[in-house]
Order: sequence, then C-alpha cells, then structure tokens
Amino acid sequence: MRTDVVVSTRGLSKRYGKLLALDDCDLDLPSGRVVALVGPNGAGKTTLLRLIAGLLHPTTGSVSVLGQDAATDTVAALSRIGFVAQEHPLYKRFRVGELLRLGRELNPGWDQAYAERRLADLGIAPHRRAAQLSGGQQAQVALALALAKRPRLLVLDEPLASLDPLARREFLRSLMTAVADDTITVLFSSHVVTELERVCDHLILIDEGRIRLADDLDSLLAGHRLLVGPRNGHTVETLRAAEGVLTVVHGERHVNVVARTGQGPTAPGWQAHALSLEDLVHAYLENSQRARTQARPFQEGSPR
Ligand code: ATP
Repeated sequence: MRTDVVVSTRGLSKRYGKLLALDDCDLDLPSGRVVALVGPNGAGKTTLLRLIAGLLHPTTGSVSVLGQDAATDTVAALSRIGFVAQEHPLYKRFRVGELLRLGRELNPGWDQAYAERRLADLGIAPHRRAAQLSGGQQAQVALALALAKRPRLLVLDEPLASLDPLARREFLRSLMTAVADDTITVLFSSHVVTELERVCDHLILIDEGRIRLADDLDSLLAGHRLLVGPRNGHTVETLRAAEGVLTVVHGERHVNVVARTGQGPTAPGWQAHALSLEDLVHAYLENSQRARTQARPFQEGSPR
C-alpha cells in the first residue's frame, strides 16, 4: 500500500441477505484530502462508511485503514478514526461536560483543551444537556467530540442532513478550520451537492453499490465539459450514442451535452464550457438512472 493512501479497499462487497449493498469496490483514498461521498438513496454510502470505520464486516474483499485491516484490527483502527453516524447520535441525557469526560476516559489520545476551546468558541456551555441542544448544536458537539480524539481519519455520515442552510455553513466552517489546523483526512457522505465544491477536493460517486467515480475534483472537472450546440440536426439518440457522452438536454434553441473532455459533438457551432461539480454529479446520476430504466425488461401491462 502507498504511504499516502489512508483507506484502501479491494474487491469489497457487502450483502444483507439477498441484497448486494456494495459490489466489488476498489478504492484508494489519498491522505490529507476532504473527500465527499455522494450517491442516491440506497446507493451504499452508509454501508461503505461503516465498513471503513470497522463497524461492519465485509462479505468478501478487504478494507485497510491507515495500514491496518479495519475488520480484524478494529481496536487499533478505531483509535485513529473519528466516526460520526447519521443524525449525530449523542447520549442525549448527558450534559456536554459529561460527554467530554466520557471521551477523555475512552480515548487515549484525547485532547481535552481542544474540545473545551471548540465548544467555548461555539458558545455551548458544559452544563447544557445534549437533548436540549438544537440539531445544529448537536452536530457541532458530535464534531468536536470526534475531533478531540485527534483522529487521522474523520468519517461523517450525512453530517449536513438535518441542518438548516446557516447551520450547514457554520458546520462546514468548523470542519474546514479543524482540517486546516491538522493533517487529517475527512470522508463525509452528503446529498447536498451544492455546498461540496467549496469544501471538498476529492469525490467518490457511488450508485447501486458500485463506485462510478473516484478522483480529485480538479481532475474530474478538467476531464468533463459542458458542450452547447444548435438544436437542429441532432436527435437526442444520436448525440447520446456518441462516445464519452453522459447526458443530453434539449433546450428551446440549444442542446446541452455533458461529455468527457475531447469527446462528444465537435461540429462547427458547438462551444465547450467548464462544468460545475453539481452538474457533473447530476450528469453521472442521470446517466446511470437512464441505463437502469433501459435495462429493465418490458412487462405486460406496464406503460411504454
Ligand atoms: P441513504 O442515502 O438513503 O442513506 P445509503 O447510500 O447510505 O442510502 P445504505 O444505507 O448503505 O445506503 O443502504 C444500501 C442498501 O442496503 C439499501 O438497499 C438498504 O436498504 C440496504 N441495507 C442497509 N442496511 C441494511 C440492513 N441492516 N439490513 C438489510 N438491508 C440493509
């Protein structure tokens, strides 16, 4: 394994009974990055994050975290991972100060001064009970507790889901400050694609348990283009069939095509533009949704 790789999976699959939630995933996560994991509902994001955090065992394949097998060296791996599950689960009846004490007792590398400073900066007093904090404050406490472990890898499962736009910004700002202060790798899943471009520098896109994209943002954005051309003379089908084309959208006068750089329509009248991360993610998701629909066999009585 390369030393700059924090997480490495090989042939990683996870079954729940008959359902294949994760299918033969190979992944190498470079260190020091802020990595966004995106994909539709049920794509396998939580499953992948829990496998990385050593909270689930693979059905087949392997997960290595910081050079250790996440499934067998769980204790060693967990001590260097900060994990915040969906919905920021805190022991709700505890006061914030008690949560800090628990963190100190359970984690050898605990940084009490850091935890106290973070919470003081956020204006969250130690006597407050977790249950009485707002959703955004609970998210901030969960993040402070995870960071006070001084982890090398921080894994967050949909940390933005229950936050309003302001709380979301504040949470991301806290995360960015923490990352700037330290050399940690952050891996977080999210459905909020609009915010990601400002905060992440590496993207994993997962769909139906398979990894469709995994690369640094700069390479992904350089590797794709939005091509805008005249509407007449092209059918959606012929454009879609061209090599490297992901999506085709017909506007009133123009056709928008998302394609890999250097591929797609190049005739006179077509112009190439840079893509946003949001457009890129949507193009891949639309593409796999269409492939799924086309692959579905026609059933008697179903609408054509
Ligand atoms: P979401 O964005 O909706 O949170 P996700 O991408 O995190 O979804 P997972 O929670 O990993 O997806 O689920 C992947 C698939 O595995 C889904 O089809 C889900 O129904 C199934 N699944 C997840 N956990 C279990 C479980 N404990 N038992 C059975 N099936 C499960």
